[in-house]
Amino acid sequence: MNFELEKKLQEHFSFSAFRPGQKEVVSSVLNKKNTIAVLPTGTGKSLCYQLPGYVLSGIVVIISPLLSLMQDQVEQMHMQGEKRVIALNSFLTGADRSKALRQLNKYKFIYISPEMLNLDEIKQRLQGLPISLFVIDEAHCISQWGYDFRPDYMKLGTIREQLGNPLTLALTATATKEVVTDIAQVLKLTSWDEHIFSMDRPNIAIKVEQVAAPEEKEHHLIKLLSSLQGPGIIYFSSRKKAEALVERLKADGFHKVMAYHGGIDQESRILIQQQFIHGQLDLICATSAFGMGVNKEDIRFVIHYHMPLQMESYIQEIGRAGRDGKKSLAILLYSPGDEALSYHLVENELPNVVQIDWISQWMKSKNRSEEEMRALVGLNDIQWRLISDFFENLENTGALDSSIEKFKLFVEERTRLKRKKIEEIKNWIHSCQCRRENILNYFGEKKKRTIKDCCDVCGINLDQFQKRDEDAANFSFSFDWRAYLSSILLKG
Ligand code: ADP
Repeated sequence: MNFELEKKLQEHFSFSAFRPGQKEVVSSVLNKKNTIAVLPTGTGKSLCYQLPGYVLSGIVVIISPLLSLMQDQVEQMHMQGEKRVIALNSFLTGADRSKALRQLNKYKFIYISPEMLNLDEIKQRLQGLPISLFVIDEAHCISQWGYDFRPDYMKLGTIREQLGNPLTLALTATATKEVVTDIAQVLKLTSWDEHIFSMDRPNIAIKVEQVAAPEEKEHHLIKLLSSLQGPGIIYFSSRKKAEALVERLKADGFHKVMAYHGGIDQESRILIQQQFIHGQLDLICATSAFGMGVNKEDIRFVIHYHMPLQMESYIQEIGRAGRDGKKSLAILLYSPGDEALSYHLVENELPNVVQIDWISQWMKSKNRSEEEMRALVGLNDIQWRLISDFFENLENTGALDSSIEKFKLFVEERTRLKRKKIEEIKNWIHSCQCRRENILNYFGEKKKRTIKDCCDVCGINLDQFQKRDEDAANFSFSFDWRAYLSSILLKG
């Protein structure tokens, strides 16, 4: 059986060995066990359902929260030579959608957004198909305790039942114990296997750098970028700041740099991502919109210009460095008061009580258009999505007033949770204990061994992350050249 799995791996993916965790998850699924798997970023989670897809006879349905990620996956599968793959999301226009739905049985892998899966027309079509595996990617979005809770994901348990309780695989890169329990509950799994692998990425050294004042950060960053060996990503919490830094960096002589965030159109985003992957760019000033689905192995550093909002996103973002296994560096820049921006961002994610009251009044009278009301109350896209999702569910249940009270409680609870997560990151920044150990403890793990170049508390040899100078580059070139020649001569 195991030998056969390796054969399938070679046959369908041309890989000679599984990465840690993959084989366990694939075997669990092929043994028809519902499976919850927590595998660190970059492990190759997609293979955990793609390989079983080739062994099992039916269709694999993959629920994925991000349109761009879905498109990437489809393109990647096309490149692997798999044509029986489709993404059902809002990119598909009316006619294409109807056609796709008619021909759905022709596909082996169906990627779908949770919103789409909610549509009766689509559910009914799927009910008639032999689903051999139901996959929930980024499964932490299910949990209200997760940092990236999506109300749409809450309905997946019911939808799973409506589809006849197919064999299920829930995948995520970051989940605390609480979140794993929630995943099983929301999906209404009665039995399941858990495969939880270490979050640790020992080749990434973790450093927090205190900068005396926020206005010194730009200068500090430029100094860092002048000395560090790229390619690298710099994460920002604000699109405006990411853009501004690109301008500043260009003026300072860094030419291979671009910004990447959700406000940039889809086509340009794909272009920027490709240029980074192929080395035409070596720095990206990004928001959290950048990263998922970016398979670049040689990212040497990830810098956080602003504090991340929670440990979960921090570990995902630094996890984009060093996928080739080589030494890499994660630096978080902190200056006193940085948390104010984090609190502000959290407030912006959720509607406040006054806004909820306004909207609930409007729900009763509908005396204005939706657009007018949104503008009047000042709700951004994220807040509106949360509210409209809530009201959409309400239409079925009635009892407006008591439900609004429940919604207010939900928002309050969520705000508290998000604030707690900011506090946790802040405490981590100010702690004098090993940074890696603290992160692992957060996810319920223990640090099992001493790691060289662990963190700024344990000690890092920073020389190895410095830019190599011309001489070193020449030397390595001549060295490679000789090795190459001798390999040819030996073969001859
Ligand atoms: P994740 O979702 O865990 O971040 P992906 O599924 O996007 O990761 O895979 C990351 C990269 O690793 C992809 O380029 C994929 O082809 C590659 N990969 C996956 N499994 C293996 C393997 N066993 N050997 C070599 N490369 C692999």
